[in-house]
Amino acid sequence: MNELLKKFPNIETEYNLAQLTTFKVGGQAKYFLISDDLEEIQAVIKFCLENEIKYQIIGAGSNLLISDQGFAGLIIKINNKDIDVNDSRLKVGAGVLLFEFVNLALKNNLTGHDFLIGIPGSMGGAIYGNAGSYGNDIASIVQSVRIIDGQGNIKELNQEECRFAYRDSYFKHNDCLIFDVVLSLQKGNVDEFRKKMIERFKVRKNIHPMEFGNAGSFFKNIEITEDVKDKLNGKLDISKFDGKKIPAGFLIEQADLKGWQVGGAEVSEKHANFLINKNNAKAQDIFDLADLIKKKVFDKYGIELQEEVQYIGF
Ligand SMILES: Cc1cc2nc3c(=O)[nH]c(=O)nc-3n(C[C@H](O)[C@H](O)[C@H](O)COP(=O)(O)OP(=O)(O)OC[C@H]3O[C@@H](n4cnc5c(N)ncnc54)[C@H](O)[C@@H]3O)c2cc1C
Repeated sequence: MNELLKKFPNIETEYNLAQLTTFKVGGQAKYFLISDDLEEIQAVIKFCLENEIKYQIIGAGSNLLISDQGFAGLIIKINNKDIDVNDSRLKVGAGVLLFEFVNLALKNNLTGHDFLIGIPGSMGGAIYGNAGSYGNDIASIVQSVRIIDGQGNIKELNQEECRFAYRDSYFKHNDCLIFDVVLSLQKGNVDEFRKKMIERFKVRKNIHPMEFGNAGSFFKNIEITEDVKDKLNGKLDISKFDGKKIPAGFLIEQADLKGWQVGGAEVSEKHANFLINKNNAKAQDIFDLADLIKKKVFDKYGIELQEEVQYIGF
C-alpha cells in the first residue's frame, strides 16, 4: 500500500466520477476523498504538495466536464454542511447545496439571495465561479471566504480579495480549496420571496433541458465592447441586448448549431447554450462538440466563446 493510503485511510481508489456530475460522464479518480474535516483536508493537501500528487476539488459536479480517462491524482469532494445563523449573517460550509441554503435562509426570514434559486451547485462551487442569475451574483452577499491555499495554509479572504467578476473570482486563478464562507442577507418579506422563487422555478423548467444530463450554460455570455459591436455590425442585430450581455446561446443559435451532434452529445434544441448528454455520450463527445461550436461561432462572427464549464483531466 502506498504512503498516501497508509496515512489517510479514508481515501478510496479507482472511484467512479461520472455519478458525481450532472453530465453523468467521466472516468475514475485514482484517489478519492470525501471529507468535512478541515484538519484532515489540510493534512492531505500538504502531503500531496510534498509528494507532487495532483489534486482537484469538486463540489456538486454541476459545472464540470470530467474526461473519460478520469483524473490521475486525488479528487477531494467537500462535504462541510455546517450552517451557523447569527441574525442576518450566516457562516456556510462549502458543501452546503444552494437549495439547502436558500431554504434555511427563508426559514430564518432572510432574503436577498433570490438569484441562487434553482442553481444545482454547492456553496463552494458557487463562490468559485461567482454563480448567479437575473443580473446578480453571489459576490453581492459575500463577506469573507475561508480557504486552504496552494501552499496548504488556512487563510481568510475579505470580499475585495475574492476579486469577483462575471463568473470569475480569485479562486479561478489561484489553487485553493474553499472551506466555508460568511454571507450577509437581509430580513425581508419571505412571502414575496417564495412567490418569486416559484415563478423562477417555472421559467427554468421551461427553458432548461432537464430531461438530459447537462452542466447548465456551457459558455459565458459576451460582454458588449466596441470590438464586439464592430465584429457583429451588419451581421446581427444586438440592440435588444443593450445594457446587458449577449447570450452565448444567441450566437450559437444564429450560427445554426441547435440540434448539432457529436456522438451522444447534442446542442439542446430547447436552449442553445446547453450541451446535453442525449444518448450515452462520452466526455470526449461533449468536449468535441464544444470545440466545434467555438470554431463555427468564431468563423462566422470572429468572437471567441469562453467556457463557463470547468474541465478536469483533459
Ligand atoms: C440545470 C443547471 C442550471 C444551472 N444554472 C446556473 C445559473 O443560473 N447560474 C450559474 O451561475 N450557474 C448555473 N449552473 C452551473 C452550476 O450549477 C454552478 O456553476 C454551480 O455554482 C457549480 O457548483 P458545484 O458545486 O456544482 O461545482 P462543481 O461543478 O463541482 O465545480 C465547479 C468548479 O468549482 C470548483 N470548486 C467546487 N467546489 C469548490 C471548493 N469547495 N473549493 C474550491 N473549488 C471548488 C471545482 O474545482 C470546479 O473547477 C447550472 C447548472 C445546471 C446543471
